[in-house]
Amino acid sequence: MNIDKMVSALAKGIKQDNIRVKEAMGKHTTFKVGGHTDIFICPESVEELAHAIKTCKVHETPYYILGNGSNVLVKDGGYRGVVIQVYKTLDQVTIEGDTVVAGAGVLLSKLAKLIAKASLEGFEFASGIPGTLGGAIYMNAGAYGGDISQVLLSADVMDEDGQVLTLTNEELKLGYRTSIIQDTHYIVLKAVLKCKKRQSAGYLCKNR
Ligand SMILES: Cc1cc2nc3c(=O)[nH]c(=O)nc-3n(C[C@H](O)[C@H](O)[C@H](O)COP(=O)(O)OP(=O)(O)OC[C@H]3O[C@@H](n4cnc5c(N)ncnc54)[C@H](O)[C@@H]3O)c2cc1C
Repeated sequence: MNIDKMVSALAKGIKQDNIRVKEAMGKHTTFKVGGHTDIFICPESVEELAHAIKTCKVHETPYYILGNGSNVLVKDGGYRGVVIQVYKTLDQVTIEGDTVVAGAGVLLSKLAKLIAKASLEGFEFASGIPGTLGGAIYMNAGAYGGDISQVLLSADVMDEDGQVLTLTNEELKLGYRTSIIQDTHYIVLKAVLKCKKRQSAGYLCKNR
């Protein structure tokens, strides 16, 4: 890959500040190991993400989607291609009644706090899992008997052509630490979760 050529093509649809060259991957993974990636992008909108995917396709350049990097090990030789991180961007959360719409880049710990603050329950299992919502849907993350499949209604995903599709819980084929995302290479953009109104006082009152 000609890195300069690729960077200028990416910069046509992505802010320069969101594109880095020769980024050490150890900075972005929990285990803090691994070599550098040729190009590292943090798209701040769905449009920037779509531009990144389409540019990689046109230039026949491999890309890898990264969330919080808590379930990824990068080899010492690094990654030849473009790493696209969906983390703390695409992270908007809106809660109406018992329905939560959350961006793929939101951390599960933050989302669990927002859901609890809205007097909803059903997402407590995710509060200690150190990843993003996108990474959690990718592998149907879970703990303490709960998992994503129990609260997820649907997810918007982007395919390899940059098209956005909505998949229902059933269509996502969420099994034990698996989902259809692992086979299709879709990118999770956002999800709709259904929680329950909290019946008990819950942990928010414990500090009173
Ligand atoms: C200390 C520790 C404790 C953990 N405890 C648990 C636990 O209790 N339960 C559990 O299930 N897991 C656990 N994990 C594993 C990990 O936290 C989860 O797998 C988490 O869901 C990964 O999310 P992430 O954002 O870090 O994804 P990453 O590690 O960045 O990526 C993991 C995979 O998801 C894909 N991915 C990430 N974001 C997207 C997206 N937006 N669209 C499509 N694909 C995407 C990546 O390509 C990659 O293949 C733990 C990990 C650690 C280090």
